[in-house]
Amino acid sequence: TTFGPLADEDRIFTNLYGRISPHLSIFVIQAEGGVEAGDWYKTKEILLKGVDWILNEIKVSGLRGRGGAGFPTGMKWSFMNKPSDGRPKYLVVNADEGEPGTCCLVAGRAMGARAAYIYIRGEFYNESSNLQVAINEAYTAGLIGKNACGSGYDFDVFVMRGAGAYICGEETALIESLEGKQGKPRLKPPFPADVGVFGCPTTVANVETVSVAPTICRRGGSWFLGFGRERNSGTKLFNISGHVNHPCTVEEEMSVPLKDLIERHAGGVRGGWDNLLAVIPGGSSTPLIPKKVCEEVLMDFDGLIQAQTGLGTAAVIVMDKSTDIIRAIARLIEFYKHESCGQCTPCREGVDWMNKMMWRFVNGNARPTEIDMIWELSKQIEGHTICALGDGAAWPVQGLIRHFRPVMESRIAEYQQQQARA
Ligand code: SF4
Repeated sequence: TTFGPLADEDRIFTNLYGRISPHLSIFVIQAEGGVEAGDWYKTKEILLKGVDWILNEIKVSGLRGRGGAGFPTGMKWSFMNKPSDGRPKYLVVNADEGEPGTCCLVAGRAMGARAAYIYIRGEFYNESSNLQVAINEAYTAGLIGKNACGSGYDFDVFVMRGAGAYICGEETALIESLEGKQGKPRLKPPFPADVGVFGCPTTVANVETVSVAPTICRRGGSWFLGFGRERNSGTKLFNISGHVNHPCTVEEEMSVPLKDLIERHAGGVRGGWDNLLAVIPGGSSTPLIPKKVCEEVLMDFDGLIQAQTGLGTAAVIVMDKSTDIIRAIARLIEFYKHESCGQCTPCREGVDWMNKMMWRFVNGNARPTEIDMIWELSKQIEGHTICALGDGAAWPVQGLIRHFRPVMESRIAEYQQQQARA
């Protein structure tokens, strides 16, 4: 089976590429030109079909959360479909990563939410300003607010800007931040579907997940299911950066081969495919895969799990042979050390320790036995923390050792030879 390329009419996010001014934000387009572009087509009818119909279409589509965990969206949203003792329900849209495009009305309806909070990364000033413009226009047009789209359903949308902490992308840290507190993850249970924002039932959904819901409802769950392969359906945004000729964000069918994605959309690896060293396929917390794995791997949840990595946020980081792979991973661990909120010991102390060890490996100033030691340390962090940041710091180290252990060993041997000569 071959996957991709997507036809223009099947693109949910990128069907306007090349047809609009690149200086206009997608959010402004959603509001000003969105009606013309079909983004609000039959929204009233969809809302009137009700919760069960929307949830069923989302379940049929096979959509899995795009924020990294890949949890089945229909099931997650249905957790809100129960009595809430008179408390309002909320949808929180996690736009901390800033993927483009949003439409939270349909998702909000699916879970009976009274309002949505869109939490957007503080650094994205222009994007959040444009988003606010779009929301204001949608209020004026009667598309949201009281009696949204004339459906009898009241739905407000608020924008909340973060302050740049990476950890606020984690759903419970995000909720804390929304409530005006320090963005530190909460222990679960209770889960947000029971006790979320201001103590009310809440679903935190990634902005890309929420954004595909209206198109799924318009075109049918089975249409979305037709892309990708079983358990990995739909279209997906892929962000390709690093040592490629044309770094870009593209929308493609799920399960597209990684090699196709890089060659067809990003102009190929700098210096040609043979110059490829490794790829981090799903953002910094997913373990790297070496060139020989990149030849065959399919870009979806199951394909990447099989390759001992993950789809994550589908942020593909390409590294050619000029990369000092040990230094690249050390830099990532330094980032995680900086972003740890410090609540749990394995993350606070363990990631700091990993960081110090990784910089010793960069210089080669380590004993060969330390490779096994840092592997064991990463295993002590993984799965032993409140949130997934600890795992996210452990996995890149494990990927490095799994595939580049000989490089680490020869760096140590070189250092020892230099010392012996000196
Ligand atoms: Fe904080 Fe790290 Fe624990 Fe997450 S894993 S709660 S970031 S200390």
